[in-house]
Amino acid sequence: IIVKVGLASCGVAAGAQEVYLALEQYLNANSRPVILKKTACIGMCFEEPIVQFVGSELGSIHIGKANPETITHILEDYIAGKTPAENIILAEKISGKHNALLANQQRIVLRNCGIIDPECIEDYEAREGYQALKKALKMERNAIIEEIKKSGLRGRGGAGFPTGLKWQLCAFENSSKKYVICNADEGDPGAFMDRSTLEGDPHSVIEGMIIGAYAIGANEGYIYCRAEYPMALEHLKTAISAAEKKGYLGKNILGSSFSFALHIKEGAGAFVCGEETALMQSIEGKRGMPTLRPPYPAVKGLWGKPTNINNVETWANIPWIIMHGAQEFRKYGTEKSPGTKVFALAGKIAGSGLIEVPMGIPLKDIIYKVGGGMKTANPFKAVQMGGPSGGCIPAEKLETIVDYDSITATGAIMGSGGMVVMDSGTCMVDVARFFLNFTQNESCGKCTFCRIGTKRMLEILTRITEGKGELQDLDNLEELAENVIKGSLCGLGQTAPDPVLTTLHYFRDEYLAHIVDKH
Ligand code: SF4
Repeated sequence: IIVKVGLASCGVAAGAQEVYLALEQYLNANSRPVILKKTACIGMCFEEPIVQFVGSELGSIHIGKANPETITHILEDYIAGKTPAENIILAEKISGKHNALLANQQRIVLRNCGIIDPECIEDYEAREGYQALKKALKMERNAIIEEIKKSGLRGRGGAGFPTGLKWQLCAFENSSKKYVICNADEGDPGAFMDRSTLEGDPHSVIEGMIIGAYAIGANEGYIYCRAEYPMALEHLKTAISAAEKKGYLGKNILGSSFSFALHIKEGAGAFVCGEETALMQSIEGKRGMPTLRPPYPAVKGLWGKPTNINNVETWANIPWIIMHGAQEFRKYGTEKSPGTKVFALAGKIAGSGLIEVPMGIPLKDIIYKVGGGMKTANPFKAVQMGGPSGGCIPAEKLETIVDYDSITATGAIMGSGGMVVMDSGTCMVDVARFFLNFTQNESCGKCTFCRIGTKRMLEILTRITEGKGELQDLDNLEELAENVIKGSLCGLGQTAPDPVLTTLHYFRDEYLAHIVDKH
């Protein structure tokens, strides 16, 4: 029998360490046919701490909201073949109320999260780990790029640029030194996809980067991860060192002529460092401020050398695509947005946590099937997608399918995968002010409109929420928003007004209520 305890940040915050310790002490004192293992987040953060039992005639069961006092009794029941009465959240053989949550998901990126021990490279190897690298090393470099192009994979950091094309542009550059970078500078309020992936399956990202580096002709790489993610960083360090020992990283990888060194750069938490030119400045030890493009990183990137940057989720897709082929990948998702997308569900939703769904799924299925509906009796009002750069999608748009183009048509953006769900009790003007306050604080200050324009917008929003607004303020907000978009150098400024514009578009009556109510 194997007992696994979810010890990702979500589990630890809910008390999983104590549950693990209780099980460990119990098993030390009592001889039982049980192997106790650590794993990471299985996605159902709302039920943490979660313990999984596998191996008795009952099949696999997950115990939610486990606590140190009762977990050993539940284990005894399980060993004896008795269905534990309490806290079962999922059972592959016993039907559980949360089966629907997982049944509507498709896991490619999160294929190992919550299953393997992320600090054990053998666990990863046992699930096809580093097989894709072995296969790739036998392929022509261009054939790898063609396979990624055929898969239609688009950058999961938010912009949705075709990954294979991006690789090709960098591969075409004639330079003896090239770099690959993993952007793990996740900073959107409500987003935790990259953190959970790195905590739960760091090798999938590392393997993706090695394959990418080989295809492009790079021999050095960086993972830029914010220092506020200590567990992700710890797991990455352990994984890199284990991969080096096994010959997957370093000189002459697996006996080939290809060498690749991978480093970690800890970011200090500036949101703007998620922008790729600012990120590279930060790696170079400079202040993280965006620079003009062109030249694009593929031509002139880190230390002036051709560089390819993808985010955590994009890299984690690579080994799966190489192993299973582009055609298999295209079985999921839509024609223009193939594959799956990882989302972090947060806010007023019953099933908050980490999910992975096929592209093309309607938003309403994410909210009501995968997410289990609303947390309280209050009805759904809107979902903020794409973090502070995104927008609020209202209830009447819930039929919208999740792909890059359909989400953009609503005025929001796919973004990297943050979804904050709001109910009827949420004030949308407050929401807009919250996100604008965030981007205002995070502006690097280089562009006048991003630095000062967002400040003036924030002042207007604050005035409105305090009941001191005028009707003219709404026109001023829209005019300022237009100028901030036009007058900003990077994506932070260019998209900062989006939460204001989408709420003004879909919830103008709420702005008016704040203004009219004062008279
Ligand atoms: Fe800096 Fe804002 Fe200009 Fe981007 S748009 S470079 S964050 S001032």
